Amino acid sequence: MDNKSSDTEQKICGRCGTCCIKGGPSLHLEDKELVQTGKIPLSKLVTLRKGEMASDNVSGGIKPLGAELIKIKGRGGSWACRFFDPGAKGCTIYENRPVECAAMQCWDTTGIAAIYDKDRITRKDLIGTVEGLWELVEDHEERCSWDEINRLAEEAVGNDDPRMTKIMEMINYDHSLRNVIVEKGMDKGMLEFLLGRPLASAVESLGMTIVKDGERYRLMKKETEQETCSCGKCSPDGK
Ligand code: SF4
Repeated sequence: MDNKSSDTEQKICGRCGTCCIKGGPSLHLEDKELVQTGKIPLSKLVTLRKGEMASDNVSGGIKPLGAELIKIKGRGGSWACRFFDPGAKGCTIYENRPVECAAMQCWDTTGIAAIYDKDRITRKDLIGTVEGLWELVEDHEERCSWDEINRLAEEAVGNDDPRMTKIMEMINYDHSLRNVIVEKGMDKGMLEFLLGRPLASAVESLGMTIVKDGERYRLMKKETEQETCSCGKCSPDGK
């Protein structure tokens, strides 16, 4: 595919903001200094963990990530970049914008395509030497691996399958760990960088949702959610 425009087409940024509104960039090793110097604080970042479902902006489609990536967080429940000022239609960190943003030219995607999946920065690059913190990330990764969640979700047959319970245990662990970290005094804004998105909401990407079932919470596949009857005449299990 020819990614370049003809001579009569756009060749400069029109500051429409579309690319920033579509989503913030993933960070690369070249961006490490921006984070280390606090120009882009860790609390403004979100980790998409290995195995997590994500859209691939170059090849298209939604698929499990082969490796983790770190993005600038969205705003107001969307992926619109946190550093985009909608009023001024501009980047509030323009002088310190990440390498993907500097390479982005909507009229010619050759530059961004060349770096898109190269030298992506990881949590280990940023906090691998911070004693205590890195061990916590590794422990969470071991107990709440997306690869394992994907396997369990694929093999689970129906909502009463023990593999669904196993995923729910991971979700509960993830939720408890976040509470403990905040209770110990860490900025809540750091959680999505340290542990990725909360599993309780992120499992929606697998077509699952959490429902209250009597006094407890259950994980259910959305297409079979109706197994729980809401008529009020039968038990919470719909039996
Ligand atoms: S960092 Fe700046 S240029 Fe990059 S997506 Fe965000 S607002 Fe746009």
